[in-house]
Amino acid sequence: MRFVIDALGPQGRQRFVYDNVTSSLTQGDGRPVAMPFEIPAPAPWQSVSAISRDTPGLKGGPFRRIKIQLGLQCNYACSYCNQASQRPAQEGAGRVDAFLATLATWLSVERHRAPTFEFWGGEPLVYWKLLQPLAEALRQRHPDAGLFLITNGALLDTAKVDWLDRMGFAVGISHDGPGQAARGPDPLEVPATRAAILDLYRRFKPQGRVSFNAMLHRGNASRAQVQAFFVALTGDADVPIGEGHWIDAYDDAGVRACLRSPAEHAMFRRQAFAEARAGCASNFGALRGKVEAFMASIAHRRPASSLGQKCGMDRADHLAVDLHGNVLTCQNVAAGTAAPNGQPHRLGTTAAIERVALASGTHWSRRPECPRCPVLHICRGSCMFLEGPLWQTSCDAAYSDAVVVFALAFELLTGTVPLRIDALEGEPLPDTRRDLFGSDARVGAGAVVRRVIPIHSMSPVRSSA
Ligand code: SF4
Ligand code: SF4
Repeated sequence: MRFVIDALGPQGRQRFVYDNVTSSLTQGDGRPVAMPFEIPAPAPWQSVSAISRDTPGLKGGPFRRIKIQLGLQCNYACSYCNQASQRPAQEGAGRVDAFLATLATWLSVERHRAPTFEFWGGEPLVYWKLLQPLAEALRQRHPDAGLFLITNGALLDTAKVDWLDRMGFAVGISHDGPGQAARGPDPLEVPATRAAILDLYRRFKPQGRVSFNAMLHRGNASRAQVQAFFVALTGDADVPIGEGHWIDAYDDAGVRACLRSPAEHAMFRRQAFAEARAGCASNFGALRGKVEAFMASIAHRRPASSLGQKCGMDRADHLAVDLHGNVLTCQNVAAGTAAPNGQPHRLGTTAAIERVALASGTHWSRRPECPRCPVLHICRGSCMFLEGPLWQTSCDAAYSDAVVVFALAFELLTGTVPLRIDALEGEPLPDTRRDLFGSDARVGAGAVVRRVIPIHSMSPVRSSA
C-alpha cells in the first residue's frame, strides 16, 4: 500500500511516496530517493508463512532458538507483566532428567551453526535447582551453543555470577532505571545484590554478554533518562541497554501503563524523536538496529512478504517448550491456557513435534490493520496472539514507538523530517496516525491549525541513530 509523506527540510516542505509492500521510497514526482550513503545488503529475503487459526504454523528443525520455560513463578510483581494472566494456570515445573532423556529424539540443530538456548521464568533464578543441572547438561551436549537468560537480578550473588560466567551465559538484567517503581522493589537498593549485579556487569561487558533491559511505559517514557540512569550506575558511557521499546498490554494493568490520549501519544513521539536525534538514546541497541534495518529495507527493497512477527515465535525454527515437553506459543504462556482466538497455547508436544500446530497467533498479514500501516516494516504486527481492545492498545503504543524509528531513518535518508503521512489509496489513516508529531490541532468548528514543532532547532542526529 502506498503512502504520501509531507516532510520538512532545509529546502522547505517536500513530498515523498512510500510503499510498504515493495519498500520503495520516491520523491513526489516519482524519482527514486538516492541513498545518501552505502547501506550494506542484508542476507537474501525469504518469504514467511502467514500463520493464523485457519492456517497453523509448523515447528521443525534444525532449530536455532530454543526457549525453555522453567515455570512462571517470580519473586517480583511488575505492574505491567505480560505473564500475570497466565500464572494462575501454570503446572508444576517438571523434571530436568525426564526432559533431557528425550531431548535428542526431537532436538535437531545445524552442524555448523550452534543454536541458542534461552532459560525463561517467571524469574529464572527462582528455578536455580532446575536451571543449574539443565544448563550444565546442555553445555556438555552443545559446547558451542549460546546460553541466555533475563533476570531481575534480585537473587544474584557471587556464586551465581561465577557460575553464569563459567558457563558462558549472556545475561539481560531487567530494570527500568528511573521507572523501576512500576516493577516493585529495586535490587540496587540492597547492597549485596547491587554489588553482585555490578560485578556481573564488569565481568560480562567486555565480551558483550550483558545489557540492562528497560521497558517504556507511562512511568518510564524517556529513553534519555533511562540511559542517564545506567551510565551513572555503571560509570560506563557505553552501557548497553536492551529491550527499550513500549510495552504491550496483556491485561487492564498493562492498558493503564500505556499512552492514553492523542496528546500523550504526540508528546511521547516528540520527546522520543528529540532524544534520539540529540544522541541521548544511543545506547539502546534495538532502537539503533531498527533504524538501520528500516533504512536497509528501503535501500534494498525488502518485500513485505518476507516479514515475520516481531518476536520471531511464528518461525518454524524458534521453539518454546516447558520441562513437561509441551510446545508453547511462546515463553510467556502456560500450557493450560488458551489464546484470545480460542486456540490452545499448548501447540503439541516434543514427542510428536511433526504434529505441532501454531494456531494461537495471527500473522500481521491476516489482520485488517497491519497491511494498511506505514510502520509495518518496523513494528511487524505487535504480539501475534493478542486480540480485541488489548491488541488495539498495544497497536497504538507500537505505532507511536515505530513512528519515531520511521522519522529517524527517514531523516537520515532524505534530510527531511516527516510530519504527516497518509494513505494514497483507500481509507485515510486516522488523524492521530496521519499527524506524526501532533503538529495539527483542531480548534473551533473543526478548523485545523498547524503548530510549529521546534524539532529542527535540535542538534543533528548521530549517524548511529
Ligand atoms: S502499529 Fe499496529 S497496525 Fe501498524 S504494524 Fe504495528 S500492530 Fe500493525
Ligand atoms: S507471542 Fe511474541 S510478542 Fe507475544 S508474548 Fe509471546 S514472545 Fe511476546
